Amino acid sequence: MTNQYDIIIVGSGLGGLVAGAKLAKEGKKVLLIEQHSVVGGCSSTFTRKGFTVDVGLHQIDGIDEYDEKMHYFEELGVYESIEFVKHGDEFYRFVNDRIDVIIPDNVEKAIKVLTEQFPEDEKAINDYFNTLLSVYKEIHSLPKNKFKLFLIMPLFPMLYPSIVKWSKKTVGEFIDSLEIKNDDLKLALLGNIQYYADDPYKLSMLYYSAAQGSYFVKGAYYLKGGSQKLSNHFAKVITDNNGEIILSHMVDKIIIKGKRAVGVEYFPKRKPDERNQAFAKHIVANAAVPNVMEMLPKKQKKILEKIFKDMEIAHSHYSLYLGFSKPLKEIGNKCFATMIWPPDIKTPADIGKSLEWPFTKRRMSITDYSQLDSGMAIPGKSVAIISGTDILDDWEKLSKDEYKKRKEQVTEELIERLEKLIPGVKEHIEWKNFATPSTIKCFTLNPNGTAYGYAQLPSQSTSKRPGNKSPIKGLWFASAWVFPGGGFTPSMTSGYNCALKILKEMSK
Ligand SMILES: Cc1cc2nc3c(=O)[nH]c(=O)nc-3n(C[C@H](O)[C@H](O)[C@H](O)COP(=O)(O)OP(=O)(O)OC[C@H]3O[C@@H](n4cnc5c(N)ncnc54)[C@H](O)[C@@H]3O)c2cc1C
Repeated sequence: MTNQYDIIIVGSGLGGLVAGAKLAKEGKKVLLIEQHSVVGGCSSTFTRKGFTVDVGLHQIDGIDEYDEKMHYFEELGVYESIEFVKHGDEFYRFVNDRIDVIIPDNVEKAIKVLTEQFPEDEKAINDYFNTLLSVYKEIHSLPKNKFKLFLIMPLFPMLYPSIVKWSKKTVGEFIDSLEIKNDDLKLALLGNIQYYADDPYKLSMLYYSAAQGSYFVKGAYYLKGGSQKLSNHFAKVITDNNGEIILSHMVDKIIIKGKRAVGVEYFPKRKPDERNQAFAKHIVANAAVPNVMEMLPKKQKKILEKIFKDMEIAHSHYSLYLGFSKPLKEIGNKCFATMIWPPDIKTPADIGKSLEWPFTKRRMSITDYSQLDSGMAIPGKSVAIISGTDILDDWEKLSKDEYKKRKEQVTEELIERLEKLIPGVKEHIEWKNFATPSTIKCFTLNPNGTAYGYAQLPSQSTSKRPGNKSPIKGLWFASAWVFPGGGFTPSMTSGYNCALKILKEMSK
């Protein structure tokens, strides 16, 4: 084994895996180092007491012709081993004490359902979808080539009026602009906000439209058998093409020679004294950007700090994983994704505040994998996840005992709320496991326990988000932390774009 490579990748989240798969397929010698014992980061599954659950994936967007990942999925052979399962016709069910509505994942049907329930807001409903889809289509029709983009710049406002209009706006501002009369309609339209942010008044309209538009054009999907299959697929592309993957090893230093990143130092997690070095022309950090700064010598750290220091980090999540003695569908649950909101959220302005409320009153979502052929459950049984946005500090400040007690208490509170929605469900629970933002931090090392990198504020989104190329020669980023951002699709796209840029530079 030599310690000289073309590319070293730090971290096997989707950004790192896709970058590695593309580069290895192009004949580059790739080494990927992952601190955890399995690949995938947030795109993974785990099994306890016979129940296998997805760490994160609820829904994936962009299984449509507008999305560029269709092209690289084809190229990297994803369709040969992965089946994408559509969520029937529904996108999500929104429930609070005042309304209960199932929103279809199709524009015409969604307009029909919402207009029947909120006839006084027919115009606003149509305006919502017209704007969302025009922003979505414009985003996906932007030239991928920087030179082409430069050439059309003088005509940009004429060709992409919706992008220009909404580029500095938040989703909250968009919803307010629609002059919706019924506040519950506003809440229902924002029902799946936890997929993107914890406050609509901080969430970039462009980032939201790119995925939300796709859900309404081609629907929401799940990966049959769980997201670990996707991660394993990309890992196999790397190893099938002579790449190496080292698990359970932590990178803690990026070696700089002159002004260039030339290698990494790493060690087995169980034997921190056993230090190793590996060298490459290019280093790709899938690890969180704030952590990468700590791996650099003082001078290079300062350079990155200048760019990233004031950027706001995105939200985190709690997840209560549940195993049932029978399909949740048969116990009485109606939908794959159900969003349950407390009555005290009356307007979009309450959404951000609700993050600080007790779990008895917080927003929560139920993802029920028994509603489709998810390939997740043992025959006759089922799994589901109750989840929502959460704050790392609320958990990190607790002692070990307090942490354990709070987890138990929150688990019971959430199960009581589930019982209210689906009477009789409690007696079918065979297994439960509560994961906090600290759990996400522990398994991915991501600051704030986030899976979404920097928050998608309008000032940190799209063209304002840092890209793959770092200011330090030879050091690249491929993850949720950089353009286009967090989520399965953006993280993978970040990895693919990073590989293309490295290949271009290597061909010079
Ligand atoms: C609960 C939850 C629900 C979600 N639901 C959805 C959903 O429904 N749809 C969707 O699109 N997205 C969802 N996401 C978000 C999505 O999973 C992430 O945005 C995406 O997977 C992040 O990928 P990434 O490439 O940034 O890497 P990450 O997943 O953050 O992984 C980074 C990897 O780097 C490794 N690493 C870090 N530092 C080091 C080091 N020093 N040395 C070696 N290895 C290191 C980590 O161990 C980890 O494996 C969800 C996430 C969570 C947590």
